[in-house]
Amino acid sequence: MSINIGIDVGGTKIEIIALDSESGKELYRQRINTPDNYPEFLSSIIKMILTAEKELKTTATVGISIPGIVNRDKTFNETPSNLPFLNRNFAQDVERELQREIRMENDARCFALSEAIDGAAKDYNVAYCIIIGTGVGGSLVVNRQIIKGANNIAGEWGHIPLPFASQEQLSTQCGCGRKGCIETQVSGKYVLQKYNKLAQTPIHTVGDIRKLANKGDELASKIMNDFYNHLASALLDIIVVVDPDIIVVGGGCSRVEEIYEKVPEIIEKLWNRGKMNINIKKAMHGDSSGVRGAAWLWKENL
Ligand SMILES: [Zn+2]
Repeated sequence: MSINIGIDVGGTKIEIIALDSESGKELYRQRINTPDNYPEFLSSIIKMILTAEKELKTTATVGISIPGIVNRDKTFNETPSNLPFLNRNFAQDVERELQREIRMENDARCFALSEAIDGAAKDYNVAYCIIIGTGVGGSLVVNRQIIKGANNIAGEWGHIPLPFASQEQLSTQCGCGRKGCIETQVSGKYVLQKYNKLAQTPIHTVGDIRKLANKGDELASKIMNDFYNHLASALLDIIVVVDPDIIVVGGGCSRVEEIYEKVPEIIEKLWNRGKMNINIKKAMHGDSSGVRGAAWLWKENL
């Protein structure tokens, strides 16, 4: 039996998983808090891998999911903001310690690969996968291969300007330094900010705004309708360029069920050229997509 190990590195937690390469069955899983300095971070990851392999009595392939853009040579140009201590040669350090090659990719791309290989998009050739959580990310997978592009930015959808935006929306400052990005209208963080700026009682999740909207609350309904409209216009751009067979939604906001009914209808109206085939589905592996996708970096069609 061959085994694929995946590691999902986040700002607060590091998770490791081991999957049976054939069946996708989960054989092992552990989680630790993310250390706050590089030597400890590196040694913890090595220890997690070696402990898993000892328990499973095998040597596995290793894939790592990490926030931020990963260059083709597995280095970084910009340190992810939630891992400020990260060394740009982290992947090479892991390879030196383990004495073998590893694979490493950005977390949104790992999520997409997971859904394309044995998740919501497994029966489709062209899958565009988005994460709507605190921020917004996206990745395109075609025939089980992550499309990286000539500049390694293919799918990076959260930080282009929102289509059909008002002047006010286009001047909204985004965390990336630019203004008017899709992320400033469609991410959980900004939707919450917009609601809490106008609301009497602050609220902590988009799910709670949705609940209020469904009870008829006027402000909550307006905020949620804006969210559906902006998500639709942002996805229409992707559909016009790529026309994916399926759009998979992950991240905290994927639990907003209206996305799957309302957003396709709005897209069809915006495009205004008759009936469209728009297939938007919730991610199958939920919060585990990142760590599963890291393991499946060794099953990608390269
Ligand atoms: Zn931005």
